Amino acid sequence: MHSKVIGSLVSGALLLALLPLLQLPTFYETLLYLIFHWIVLSVSWNILSGYSGYFSFGHGAFYGVGVYTTAVLCGHADWSFLASLPVAALVAALFGVALGAVVFRVKRLRGELFALMTLAITFVVSMVILNTPIDGGPGIYLSNVQVPHVYGSPSSTFYLLALVLALLTLLVAYLVYSGQLGLGLFAIHDDEDVAEVQGVPTYRYKLIALGISCGLAGLAGGVQALFVSYVTVGEIFNMVVPLYVMLMSVLGGVRHWAGPAVGAIFITILLYSFTSGDMAVVGRALVGFSLIAVILFMPLGIVGQWLARRRRLGAVPALPKAVPPQAIAHSAPAHGELFRAVGIDKNFNGVQALAGVDLVVRSGEILGLVGPNGSGKSTMVNVITGFYKPDRGQLWFAEQDLVPQPSYRAAQLGIARTYQIPRPYQNLTVLQNVVLPGLFGAQSLPMPQARGQAMHWLEFVGLADRANSYPTELNLHQRKFLELARALANAPRLVLLDEVLAGLTPTEIEHAIRTVRIIRDRGSAILFIEHNMRAVLELSDRLMVLNHGKVIANGPPREVVRQPDVISAYLGAGAASS
Ligand code: ADP
Ligand code: MG
Repeated sequence: MHSKVIGSLVSGALLLALLPLLQLPTFYETLLYLIFHWIVLSVSWNILSGYSGYFSFGHGAFYGVGVYTTAVLCGHADWSFLASLPVAALVAALFGVALGAVVFRVKRLRGELFALMTLAITFVVSMVILNTPIDGGPGIYLSNVQVPHVYGSPSSTFYLLALVLALLTLLVAYLVYSGQLGLGLFAIHDDEDVAEVQGVPTYRYKLIALGISCGLAGLAGGVQALFVSYVTVGEIFNMVVPLYVMLMSVLGGVRHWAGPAVGAIFITILLYSFTSGDMAVVGRALVGFSLIAVILFMPLGIVGQWLARRRRLGAVPALPKAVPPQAIAHSAPAHGELFRAVGIDKNFNGVQALAGVDLVVRSGEILGLVGPNGSGKSTMVNVITGFYKPDRGQLWFAEQDLVPQPSYRAAQLGIARTYQIPRPYQNLTVLQNVVLPGLFGAQSLPMPQARGQAMHWLEFVGLADRANSYPTELNLHQRKFLELARALANAPRLVLLDEVLAGLTPTEIEHAIRTVRIIRDRGSAILFIEHNMRAVLELSDRLMVLNHGKVIANGPPREVVRQPDVISAYLGAGAASS
């Protein structure tokens, strides 16, 4: 698959590289230059914004940084044009990463806030360039800068340069898309919190995507600087670039690496078919109308719609062959203690969800955890997986202190969970949902193995025939088993099952209980949170009871359920029968 796509891209580019031999009128070479230019800008924008969903209005700023880097180096410092291009890419990428390092730290800055933030940055950058010696107001002339002689006229040279950049950008976009980085970004798009809990280093991934995106935009900017040969802040830092790249990407489809390129070709041709005077207005109006039509009738964009249609007609990707994983390594500590929480406190604006909870899980055991609704069970799971940091207390897993580590580390160390209400990645297939924990979990498998093992886990939970479906096409029972498959694909040493049985029919419950036992027998310890008392008593080696965030009992299950304070707190609350 890889070699096929890369092969077609490269051979397509080689063919196009022969075009200047035809000695076409400059108009056509210039039009093609502009198409490639917009392909680079829109496809690079999509690597961050389309894949991860962080819509950025700042692409014009990064592009502009590239433009001005080349303009200053060539126009003021007499650099050669080609030598300035890698610097333009580097400066734009570094600028993006520095910015991202600040912006991505603020967890609230998602969605609209992130978009507004990047918009503001564009204005700040243009003000700085305008009011400092970088530009200072009059703009920078590049008419004396030598256009490198590649083949034929300068317009052929620009055509070839832009062709190479477009090829490079498409290759990068494809490789990101089809690899681990891409899957991580798509997971961030669908549910960033779950992605982090499953081991995706979300902060770093967003930074990398932003860096790549900015670097490519900077390259396009560097070439454009010489192409226009006179740059001004007003011409470069307006809303044209951010708006057009968004338009092109949405039109072509943001969920595919090639979508924005298709949109770029379409819109650029439309705009430049109507160049003269009044006709330019017609071109813009047509672009506007086509966008409205696409949003109304083709929300997936051209490429997305085409893929969805092929899928309806039965063209689905080939499934990998199931590869059974190796048994889980029993490197359990000598005293058999896999996990220990000591004195955990967690407070939510005055609600004391956990108050001094001590909890030990021994390797190979099933620890039942019960308690009335709101007693803090799910909060405990969130603390163990690193999603919430405890206000006080310690967390030890396989001799490692979890508290100071970033959230995604828990998954990488081998802690996996299921969600009480399933939280699959909606826009990833069932198979991709299970591939992800294989890549990012305790085994950090390479892609082919992760796919093979994911297929194994889908067979294990009985979802193999749904591998190419999307989670929305599954019923609740299937979604619960998808949660289980995702947890298992991590190759976890500790599995936290948060009410996996809730909402299942008695037969499904039987099936689930058998499955939980097999998971334990494979070598994972299990924290089993459940309201169904029969299942708890059947499965648990030990039972703990939480009430108002405090442990009120801990011991052999049948003894614990006979304790008077447990009966009054929990069984008395009427939950025993449910
Ligand atoms: P359980 O899973 O045992 O039903 P939870 O752990 O979900 O209980 O909740 C424990 C308490 O903490 C409840 O009072 C709940 O309202 C509160 N709580 C849990 N998560 C949050 C949150 N993110 N923000 C505010 N309060 C929360
Ligand atoms: Mg809960």
